[in-house]
Amino acid sequence: MGASNDVNNVFEMISIPKNLFLHHRIAGIAKSIAYAGVLTATKYSMANQSVKLALIDLSGTLHVDDQPTEGAVEALKRLRQHGVKVKFVTNTTKESVGSLFERLRKIGFELERDEIYGSLGAAADYVRKNKLNPYYLLTDDARTDMPPNNAERAIDSVVVGLAPDKFCYEHLNEAFRVLHQNRSGGNVQLVAIHEGRYYKAKDGIALGPGCFVKGLEYSTGVKPVCIGKPNEYFFRSALPEGVRVEECVMIGDDPNDDCLGAMRIGMKGYLVETGKYQPEMYTEQNRPAVSGIFRTFSDVVEHIITSG
Ligand SMILES: [Mg+2]
Repeated sequence: MGASNDVNNVFEMISIPKNLFLHHRIAGIAKSIAYAGVLTATKYSMANQSVKLALIDLSGTLHVDDQPTEGAVEALKRLRQHGVKVKFVTNTTKESVGSLFERLRKIGFELERDEIYGSLGAAADYVRKNKLNPYYLLTDDARTDMPPNNAERAIDSVVVGLAPDKFCYEHLNEAFRVLHQNRSGGNVQLVAIHEGRYYKAKDGIALGPGCFVKGLEYSTGVKPVCIGKPNEYFFRSALPEGVRVEECVMIGDDPNDDCLGAMRIGMKGYLVETGKYQPEMYTEQNRPAVSGIFRTFSDVVEHIITSG
C-alpha cells in the first residue's frame, strides 16, 4: 500500500467526506496535514518495534541452581550494551531478594539488587496493604522479606510460597485450621505467592507450591488470591513508567507463567529450552503458541539484537 492510499485511508478513518473539500487549496492543506499524520504514525509504529525493556525470568532461564545457563552471563551484558533495560522477574519464593541477588552475583551476573522484581516482594506489599496477620508457609529465608506477625492479633490468613521443608502434614494442617476457623466471617484469605506446578532443580524437575495451594482450597473451599506470574497485575506492576507493553518482551522457561501470561497483556513472550520446558513433550500441533522458542537465553538476545 502506497502513501496516497494511506492518506485516503486516513480520510476514511476520520470520516471526512472528501467532497466537502470543494476548494482545492483547502483540500491540499488538509492532505498535507494527513500526510504528516501518516508519516508520524509510521515513525511511531517503527519505534514500537524496538525492544526497550526485557523482563527476564531467573531460574531455568539465566541459571539452574548455582550454574548459569550456557552463554547467559555474556548474553546479558550484550543485551545491556544494545540499550535494552532489564528487569529480573521471578516467582522464586524459596529465597529472599537479598540471598538471590548475592547468589546471582557470585555466579557471574552483573546486576543491581533493585533490578530484581519478585512475587515475594509483591506479596509482602499485598499483606501490608490488606493488614493481614498471616500464617506463613515459607522458608525461613523468604520469611525475612515479609512483614512480621502481630502477636496481639489472631492469625487471620495463610500465605503460601515454595517451602519444601514446610510442606508436611503438621504445617499444612495448621494452615488448614486457620482457613477453616476463619472462613465463616467470609474474609479469610489464602494468598498464593504463585501456583507453579513444578520447576527445574539440580537433580531434575521438582514439585512447586501449586498443588499445596490447590489442596488447601479443596479442603476449605477458600479460593486463593494469586500474586505472581502469570497474573496480569504482576506483569503490569513490573513495567517502569514510560514503557509500553508493546516495547517489552518477557523471556522465560515456563510457557504459561512466563510467556503466555505476558502475551495476554500485549508483550512478546520468548521461551527458552534451558529450564522446565521440555520440547520432547510437545508435537508440532500442540507446541505452546508463544512469540518464539529458542534453545538458550543467549539465542533470544541474538534475535533481539539482530531484529531491532
Ligand atoms: Mg523459570
